[in-house]
Formats: sequence, C-alpha cells, structure tokens
Amino acid sequence: MTPEELLSYDREHLWHPYSSITNPLPVYGVESAHGVRLRLSDGRELIDGMASWWSVIHGYNHPLLTKALQEQAGRLSHVMFGGLTHEPAVQLAKTLVDITPGDLDLVFFSDSGSVAVEVAMKMAIQYYYAAGKPQKQRFLTIRSGYHGDVFHCMSVCDPVNGMHQLYSGILPKYYFADKPECTFTEDWDPNDITSFQGLIEQHHKELSAVILEPIVQGAGGMRFYHPQYLLQVRKLCDQYDVLLIADEIATGFGRSGKLFACNHAEVVPDIMCLGKALTGGTMTLAATIARRKVGEGISATNPGVFMHGPTFMANPLACAVAGASLQLLLESDHEATIRNIEKQLQRGLSPCRELKTVADVRVLGAIGVVELTSPVDMARIQPAFVEKGVWVRPFGKLVYVMPPYCMNDADLQILTAAICSVLEEESVH
Ligand SMILES: *Cc1c(COP(=O)(O)O)cnc(C)c1O
Repeated sequence: MTPEELLSYDREHLWHPYSSITNPLPVYGVESAHGVRLRLSDGRELIDGMASWWSVIHGYNHPLLTKALQEQAGRLSHVMFGGLTHEPAVQLAKTLVDITPGDLDLVFFSDSGSVAVEVAMKMAIQYYYAAGKPQKQRFLTIRSGYHGDVFHCMSVCDPVNGMHQLYSGILPKYYFADKPECTFTEDWDPNDITSFQGLIEQHHKELSAVILEPIVQGAGGMRFYHPQYLLQVRKLCDQYDVLLIADEIATGFGRSGKLFACNHAEVVPDIMCLGKALTGGTMTLAATIARRKVGEGISATNPGVFMHGPTFMANPLACAVAGASLQLLLESDHEATIRNIEKQLQRGLSPCRELKTVADVRVLGAIGVVELTSPVDMARIQPAFVEKGVWVRPFGKLVYVMPPYCMNDADLQILTAAICSVLEEESVH
C-alpha cells in the first residue's frame, strides 16, 4: 500500500481510540520510531512528548529491549500459565516484589491496565467474602479519577468527566469523595480529607476497598495532590478495615519523580496495579500485586482459589521485555533524570502562564500540564503541533506531555517551545 492508500483504508475501516467512523479526525501513519522520534510515512520526524501514553520510558526501538524480545522469541513466545511457568515470569515477579513498597508480595499478571484494575477489585471482594463479610463488596474512590474503560473500571472513573456518562444507568453506583484540592506543593489543609472521611465512616461496613491513583490523577484531569491526603486515606482504611488499591498504572516506574507515586507518602497499599511503562512500551502487560494477607485470606476458605485467569497471562515475550526494561530503569539514576526533566518542563512551559487562555501550568516529575480555560479544537491543534515537529495529543482543556526519560535538554526545549507557540497562536482564535 502507498501511504495514501494506507490512510484511506484506515479512514474507512479502523476504529481509533474514542473515534468516529463517519467524521474521523486525521491520523498520521508512523513508519518507524527511534529514540524520542517518530518517523511518519511522509518522511517527517516528530519529537514524541507522549511516550505513547506514559509507556515508552526508554524511547523507541531501544537495542536492549529489542534484543530481549528477539532472544525470547527464539525460545518461547507463549505458553499457557495454567499449570506451567517460565523464567521470564518468575524473574519479573521477583523484581516487582523487590521494588514495590512494603510487603506487596504476590503478583498476578494480565494483559492490560483495565484488567489489572478489574483483578484488584475482584481480589478485594473475594478477600472479604473469604473473611465471612460478603456484604463488603462496594468501592469508594475520589472524583477526577481514571481507572480504565471496561465496565467495572468505568464505575470508579469520575462520574462527570470520566467519558463514560452514557453508561451510568447500568454501572454499579459507588461512592465518590470530593477530589483533593490541596496540590502537591501547597501547605496541607486538613479539611481536604473531610469528604473522604465522612464517606468511609458512613459506609465502611459495605466497602471492600478504596481505589485511587496515588498523587497523580491522570486521564481524569492531570492533577497532582498532596501526599498527606494519601497518608490520611491509608490511616482511615486501616481504622475502618477497608483495603486500599493504588492504581499506579500511569505513575509507576519513576514518572512522578519516585519509583512509585506511593513512595511520596511512604504509603504501602494492600493492592497495587501496574501497567503502561511495565514493558517500556514494547508489549502489552499489566500486573496486580497484593500483600500476603490478601492472598492468604482469599486462599483460606471456599472457593479457596482466586477466580481469574486470562488466556495470555504472563506472556513470556512481554515478561522478558519487561525484565529488560526494569533492569535499564533500575541501573539508571532515574530520580536525577526525572528531576532534570522536571526542571526543563517547568522552565519551558512557564511562558504559557502569560496567555489569557491558560488557566494553570503545573509540572511534577516528568509530567508537564498546561490547563486551558476552554477545550482545544483538536482538528486545528493536532496539525499545528505536527507542523512544529512535535507529537502532543491534548484532550479537553488539557495540553500535557510525559516524554520518554531519554529526551535530552535540546529536544525538551523544542517540545516545550512548540507548545508555547501553538498555544499562543491558538489564543487569538
Ligand atoms: C491507562 C490507565 C488504565 C487503563 O489501562 P489500559 O492498559 O488502557 O487498559 C487504568 N488506570 C490508570 C491510572 C491509567 O492511566
């Protein structure tokens, strides 16, 4: 197919995320990618500010990741995980057990973040079922969250901004505390936890778990909240016998400045969900990691086994490349790398504050956010970024970047300057 034929067939036959069949926004063909650059079919190169939605932390086509994948493909690409095991899964689990906080010890692999969240929620329900408290099967979360697109995940996404409003009639009704208002850098305001505290006090008898994104709320609003909030949530969960599920699918593996966002508050959740950057963006893989008490509780009584088992569980290719990605990450001084990106993003994006169309500019770790006063016009802004040689994909009022960790200062400068200049052009429309 010529590049034109490819795009035209795509337009006629393929769904893209959140896309229309009859009125699709333009898509760009990617021919290859290397480091932080995407090469389009027409030969243009774009500096990638999105790391393919948080995942490509080491850049594209990293030789060590490609090698791990090729070597594993030569031995064993896939085998069922029922009754069988293999070294890539065991090695990866060992690394995850070692690096996750506290006694998060038991690893359940699955294929995508949404499934990892689904698994965590099932674990929480089954834990209390086995403990003789089957009435504890509901969830409490905070507004502005995002936990995935499948049914149970949708039920804990922000009920208003969560993109799933039209399904609200058939989703289970769970409890939503006010979103934290106190930002990461402000002084802690004890009133911030009042709404959450009220709900957990009132409903703990029917709650199996609290689920939230620690510190960084991603697709639900790109907000950074105070570590003290997370600490208070942990205390209240202990006090009222409710499990805490930390959804670190976006934040895991260094993105927020610490290896895990929970580490900002030194909080150990009962269950942690990982995904996105787990394989360095090479394969789809996710993990749900539980404390021993959760696993032992589930296994203690009828049915005595955890009721979940995906076909492609612990796929060896994905586990092998995840192992290589983690080795790269852990051998690097990732905290220093992220601190530098944070500084560059802060410096590069701050001129946007002057624009009257900009409501807020905020940066945490390798995440830079420009919040506008009204939603962007995607049909106009997307080509404008491409014209400037960068890949930035806004949604709603949010123009945000989370670049691969290997992006150098010169490329960060090009990326942030492009954002400032596109938003300046847009501000006169
Ligand atoms: C992306 C994301 C998910 C869903 O992961 P998928 O791999 O898209 O299913 C869940 N939770 C958070 C916090 C995410 O950022």
